[in-house]
Amino acid sequence: MCNIILLGPPGAGKGTLAKQLISVYNIPHISTGDMFREAIKDGTPLGRLAASYINEGHLVPDEVTISLVRERLSQKDCEHGYLLDGFPRTLPQAEALDTIGKDLKRPIRVVINITADEEELVRRISGRRVCRKCGTPYHIDTMRPKEEGVCDACGGEIYQRKDDTKESLLVRLNHYYADTKPLEDYYAKHGVLYEVDSTVGPKKSLKIAQKIIEGAKCD
Ligand code: ADP
Ligand code: ZN
Repeated sequence: MCNIILLGPPGAGKGTLAKQLISVYNIPHISTGDMFREAIKDGTPLGRLAASYINEGHLVPDEVTISLVRERLSQKDCEHGYLLDGFPRTLPQAEALDTIGKDLKRPIRVVINITADEEELVRRISGRRVCRKCGTPYHIDTMRPKEEGVCDACGGEIYQRKDDTKESLLVRLNHYYADTKPLEDYYAKHGVLYEVDSTVGPKKSLKIAQKIIEGAKCD
């Protein structure tokens, strides 16, 4: 199975596609955003540090994020492929991931760049709700759970993230353009970059992503 990265701006649909792909391919979903939110919920030192950045829309410092991912990828369940969602987000993170991939003999084979225009990103983020327990995303207009406030996937409570405000979103978009977008070039040069325009909707996005993954040369 492939090791896969989902790249793209906040609201592009990384979380939605991630949930679909991990159930198709049965690989672990490694979302740095979810890991940080888990640490915040548990009140750990990592959580306290992360919260001070995340709530304002800023990125958590590279050294913190990189060591978190290094440890996670060395766990046994990642041996037969993994899906990274929200990492890497900066050039130093991408370079560190190359080293981790070499060390663990688990290099990245597919980078799916999920896109949507900025107006759509703002619409999605401002109406976004997520499951507190499993991270499944919803939208107040277009992706409602069957039962109000309750996650379809796990029964967990659905809530609005603190950083899903207009102010934080602007900061997050700025970080995306300055820090994350340059990774498109980085991975294009490595010959592993593919694109999925998520405005076609979740079902079609999944089909396109599956074609990409199945057409890629993976071990
Ligand atoms: P989104 O893709 O909607 O912005 P995420 O759940 O992926 O949401 O991330 C939420 C926040 O967690 C980010 O805005 C950032 O503060 C922090 N974060 C997540 N991943 C990283 C990362 N790789 N590097 C630095 N900060 C991160
Ligand atoms: Zn859930």
